[in-house]
Amino acid sequence: MAADVNTSGRVIEPAREIPVARDVDVLVVGGGIAGVMAALASGRTGASTLLVERFGSLGGTGTAAMMNLFYVPYAATSGPVRELFDRLIAAGGAIPGEFVVYDPELYKVTALDMLAEAGVEVLLHTLVSDAIMQGSALHGIVVENKSGRQALLSRVTIDASGDGDVAARAGAPYIKGREADGKMRPMTLIFRMGGVDVPRLVEYVRAHPHDFSPDPLQTMLDVDHQMIRIFGFFNMVELAKARGELWPECYYFRVESVLPQRGILTVNATRAYGLDGTDAGDLSRAEIETRHQMLQLAAFARKDLPGFEQSFILDSAATIGVRETRRIRGEYVMTEDDIIAGRRYDDVVAVDANQQNPRQQGGHPPDGKEGGPQDREARELIARLFVYEIPYRSLLPQDVDGLLVAGRCISVDHHADVYTRNQGSAMATGVGAGVAAALAARAGVPPRRVDVRAVQARLRNLRVDLDLLRRLGPAPDRLDPQSASQPRDT
Ligand SMILES: Cc1cc2nc3c(=O)[nH]c(=O)nc-3n(C[C@H](O)[C@H](O)[C@H](O)COP(=O)(O)OP(=O)(O)OC[C@H]3O[C@@H](n4cnc5c(N)ncnc54)[C@H](O)[C@@H]3O)c2cc1C
Repeated sequence: MAADVNTSGRVIEPAREIPVARDVDVLVVGGGIAGVMAALASGRTGASTLLVERFGSLGGTGTAAMMNLFYVPYAATSGPVRELFDRLIAAGGAIPGEFVVYDPELYKVTALDMLAEAGVEVLLHTLVSDAIMQGSALHGIVVENKSGRQALLSRVTIDASGDGDVAARAGAPYIKGREADGKMRPMTLIFRMGGVDVPRLVEYVRAHPHDFSPDPLQTMLDVDHQMIRIFGFFNMVELAKARGELWPECYYFRVESVLPQRGILTVNATRAYGLDGTDAGDLSRAEIETRHQMLQLAAFARKDLPGFEQSFILDSAATIGVRETRRIRGEYVMTEDDIIAGRRYDDVVAVDANQQNPRQQGGHPPDGKEGGPQDREARELIARLFVYEIPYRSLLPQDVDGLLVAGRCISVDHHADVYTRNQGSAMATGVGAGVAAALAARAGVPPRRVDVRAVQARLRNLRVDLDLLRRLGPAPDRLDPQSASQPRDT
């Protein structure tokens, strides 16, 4: 059917009937780590559940953007998240410690297996393009895929798209980026380098500690446990910039371990600033800019960095990594003060822990200069562990019924986002949202009216440890694996 172009240069799409491809209790949009947990928890709670993902595999930023590092201490995990970790560890696909490094390929298959066991249906290669509304209530979504344009109906939808795509299209209020000016954290194209002589590199870093972050979690040289993280080469980067070999806004070179025993390291050092991850033009600019940065970084590493002499670009991420876009305005907006104070909530549905420098810029300030001479976080400070609760109200968007959010787009401010954008919180909020959605759908009530006590009871039943903050306090010196979350029999 042809579309008309009107005088203002816009196209009027004619109304048309589209098929209803599925009608389920719970629809989860986005198969990133949050969406996977949401669908798993919903399926296990007895709701018919469909997970929709635009890519051909699961994991989102964790796999397609190559950021395969859960920034949560293994000892702080519980419930389905711990179960996933334990399956990966048993398969040789994850290394537990103060954070958990995982093999993205094993993650993709393990996630599919766990979802299948929970009876969740997965629809891949499917982009969500619109919300189906009746007044202020969301009843489903419109998708586009190789089969054409289809409607998917649901009692409850969980927006785990990272960007809050469904919530925005449903008319829920949101904030993009920093409250004061809307600026967002930079985007990054991650790539992997092969052929690295890791022992030689580690030896060099040990011998030149002044040129690297002093934080033991940023510069981590535990070769025996394959935990390698290197943040620095500050002086070498300045020298390369003076020769015009790196772009002016580059201040450091950073690698994370993936498979160091095979000479493979992940490089997390490209940065695209001042762009919006919900704008297709900006996403394209970010991909183009960072691919050129990647070539400069690889050439710099080969020429200047001990251990990289024989290295090569093994591959780059299938998509640019987006750190920050929309955060939904929910019934409660969490702040960093809440986290630092260890605020407890009657309606807690998720608990997480990660290492941060309180009241700083969270490592990736939208203004740039990350790792530069003035960046105390990169050059001087040592992060502390924070344990924090997330209330159900931060998953409940204002003004729209039939909708919950999970993962990166939950209702927090820009500074709390430093903590909650990490993978531990994304997964924990996924589990909380999945249980709540399933119970709401099965009871025939909107998520706003679900019995939160029943949600908490079901979470405990799934062995989620909702009492971690009560037991450990907000800033424990360290996490003793014995006192931390252990799955309990219920
Ligand atoms: C470069 C970078 C480095 C990071 N470093 C760390 C780190 O070291 N440790 C850590 O814990 N965290 C880190 N993070 C943050 C963390 O990885 C992410 O915030 C987290 O993975 C987000 O998970 P999510 O499931 O909420 O969203 P996403 O991973 O964004 O998943 C959303 C999913 O939804 C799909 N989707 C989106 N829109 C649509 C649509 N319209 N239709 C259908 N599907 C859609 C996407 O394809 C994707 O699979 C980093 C992030 C980046 C970008």
